[in-house]
Amino acid sequence: GMRVGKYELGRTLGEGNFGKVKFAKHTDSAQSFAIKILEKNRIQDLRITDQIKREIRTLKVLKHPNVVRLYEVLASKTKIYMVLEYVNGGELFDRIASKGKLSETQGRKLFQQLIDGVSYCHDKGVFHRDLKLENVLIDGGRNIKITDFGLSALPQHLRDDGLLHTTCGSPNYVAPEVLSNRGYNGATSDTWSCGVILYVILTGFLPFDDRNLAVLYQKPLDIERDPESPSLINNAFQLIGMSSCFDLSGFFENEDVSERKIRFTSNLSP
Ligand code: ADP
Ligand code: MG
Ligand code: MG
Repeated sequence: GMRVGKYELGRTLGEGNFGKVKFAKHTDSAQSFAIKILEKNRIQDLRITDQIKREIRTLKVLKHPNVVRLYEVLASKTKIYMVLEYVNGGELFDRIASKGKLSETQGRKLFQQLIDGVSYCHDKGVFHRDLKLENVLIDGGRNIKITDFGLSALPQHLRDDGLLHTTCGSPNYVAPEVLSNRGYNGATSDTWSCGVILYVILTGFLPFDDRNLAVLYQKPLDIERDPESPSLINNAFQLIGMSSCFDLSGFFENEDVSERKIRFTSNLSP
């Protein structure tokens, strides 16, 4: 196979927007890695270059069992190589797409890990902003690893109002305050995305979905606008007996987004 520095490249593990992620073995230690390969000519666009710099800068400071580790960055004339911790179980997305929802026990365990990883990032001032099933990987030991910090935000990205203003993320996972153009807190918007992930983990379905983007974007906004109305999410949680597992009552209906994180985490202890 092809070689990059002291790494022997193997099969493709995943396709990203700007390149591939390949399996790699260190030639001396025989240790496994995942290398995210970015084509320089495809990332020349200034915004994307900034995004990749940010992804690297962010990942370098994050060291947590539930966050993918970045070990080193190599570069050739045409490519950038991010040497990452190899996660052998693939995306949580594929796991649920092929085998369906997780058991309550397994779901609780993985979700606790997700929240641990996300809380750690927030404590470091990092907001992920692209949390979704495709960016949550599982390893053989059935532990989750959060990856893909390309859209992450750091304290220096906060505006004078202390909020973030860039609308980004995946349509199915985006929080209403991100869509509403009034500025948002990255911690609470990440937490919304975690809530969507939890819903999918336990039901096998996305809580907000539509082929028409305008209709899809309206769904979380409707929930936020009318906090009294029984929401899709709350109904589904009740349907699967969630209240016995996590007390999330009112979580998604809460108008005050600053409350969201507190409720979410304080109700999680087993
Ligand atoms: P993008 O920013 O383009 O979405 P990602 O960083 O999310 O790229 O990587 C794309 C895909 O590659 C992931 O969804 C996953 O399937 C795979 N992948 C990424 N990092 C790893 C890793 N460390 N170990 C195993 N597979 C990975
Ligand atoms: Mg991704
Ligand atoms: Mg990305």
